[in-house]
Amino acid sequence: MTVRVRFAPSPTGHPHIGNIRTVVFNWLFARQNNGQFVLRIEDTDRTRYVPEALRAITESLRWLGMDWDEGPDVGGPYGPYVQSERLALYRQKAEELIEKGWAYRCNCSPERLERVRAAQRAQGKPPMYDGHCRNKPPGAVSPDEPHVIRLKVPREGKTVVHDLLKGEIAFENRLIDDQILLKSDGYPTYHLAVVVDDHLMHISHVIRADEWLPSTPKHVLLYRAFGWEPPVFVHVPLVLGPDGKKLSKRHGAVSVAEFKRQGYLPEALFNYLALLGWAPGEGDEQEIFTREELIERFDLRRVKLSPAVFSYEKLDWMNGVYIRNLSDEALLERLIPFWQEAGLIPSPVPAEELERLMILVPLVKERIKRLRDVVPLTDFIFTEIEPPAPEKLIGKKMTARQSLEALRSAHELLKNLVPFDAATMEPRMRQLAKDLGLKAGQLFTIIRVAISNKKVAPPLFGTMEALGRQKTLQRLAQAEEILAAYITETEAHA
Ligand code: GLU
Repeated sequence: MTVRVRFAPSPTGHPHIGNIRTVVFNWLFARQNNGQFVLRIEDTDRTRYVPEALRAITESLRWLGMDWDEGPDVGGPYGPYVQSERLALYRQKAEELIEKGWAYRCNCSPERLERVRAAQRAQGKPPMYDGHCRNKPPGAVSPDEPHVIRLKVPREGKTVVHDLLKGEIAFENRLIDDQILLKSDGYPTYHLAVVVDDHLMHISHVIRADEWLPSTPKHVLLYRAFGWEPPVFVHVPLVLGPDGKKLSKRHGAVSVAEFKRQGYLPEALFNYLALLGWAPGEGDEQEIFTREELIERFDLRRVKLSPAVFSYEKLDWMNGVYIRNLSDEALLERLIPFWQEAGLIPSPVPAEELERLMILVPLVKERIKRLRDVVPLTDFIFTEIEPPAPEKLIGKKMTARQSLEALRSAHELLKNLVPFDAATMEPRMRQLAKDLGLKAGQLFTIIRVAISNKKVAPPLFGTMEALGRQKTLQRLAQAEEILAAYITETEAHA
């Protein structure tokens, strides 16, 4: 069988990461079987339609490196791939079902339907259409008056869904509603459109989230009504937040655009998503996979039945691994947009600035989990700093005077150091600490605060090299003034 799978999003906003995980499964399955991956836009619910959504969807897939063989932008033999452009087809199919005795016209007013539902609720019954128009003689509801077309669900027996992961699931027909197939505005409902399109687009496997399982018996009935062979159904577990509730904004990023903005690498996110509900197998602990390995190893039959829990912590870890695996040059390229976005460097980047950035890259590589982390870690190198408070400039177990002395000595040393680079600086500064009778950490912390006004910053010597001699000396001088003023002040009050 030729494998043909699809992602059929409704353009209602930014795609949710849980849906994107399901796309990853579809895409991997298509690629490993040399099949086709189809993008189809299900825009039949006009009330929830968001015009920018289509772009958000395609950008998200592209950023994650998932291409599609057929779709609204690339075309294909079974188009159009946007449901609102296929309305005539759905009407024709719905009429076909009326002729076959599998559907009927219904002109019940919204008020009547509401009364029926209210009565059902009062009796504690699930709200369902009561079949008022089901047995009217043909022609009783004219095609020219406002009406909907409903599926004539058999009253008895069961409808069995075959699911690749869950096996057979039987649904009692009497509990299945006479589903509306075509609305009075001429738009199909999801149920009619999805079945017609999956069939006409030759979809072999419908891989979608568990939440669609309750709809599937209706789809199975529709396949039977049309006399079509249903595809293989694969309902994959939902993605939950760490607290066991459906993953939502409360938990953190949920749209691909947001993950991108925070500085996750697309290849890391892709790897992480592939493992959300799937694992290579018992005893196989491998977690870092290239895209090619995932295409080869992914096994649709091994997708877990229980919901997958999204762990931001694990994703951060994985992203850090991917960051450290990049060459310095490759990481630099990825970091530049984040520095630019924060307004720290211009665009395009001047050549001398590039040199400075290249000094910083190896220093930050081990210290960031997300690309964006580089901004608070290094901003002080590009911008002026708030003058540090004098208390912060006093070394551990040291007096203000000793600290000032240490700053002045370091200043003296650095003023004449040639070349002004980390390798030359480090042994000289360590020696200086010894000469002053200080621990290296005592001296270095004072200098770190003086140049960055931060307790945590990238390694000191590389940072000073990147900052350059002039700025380094300026900040040391500023710190000396602050401490000197503080000493005068405290002594005056003593
Ligand atoms: N349009 C549906 C959605 O928004 C597609 C469900 C399916 O894959 O059948 O997710």
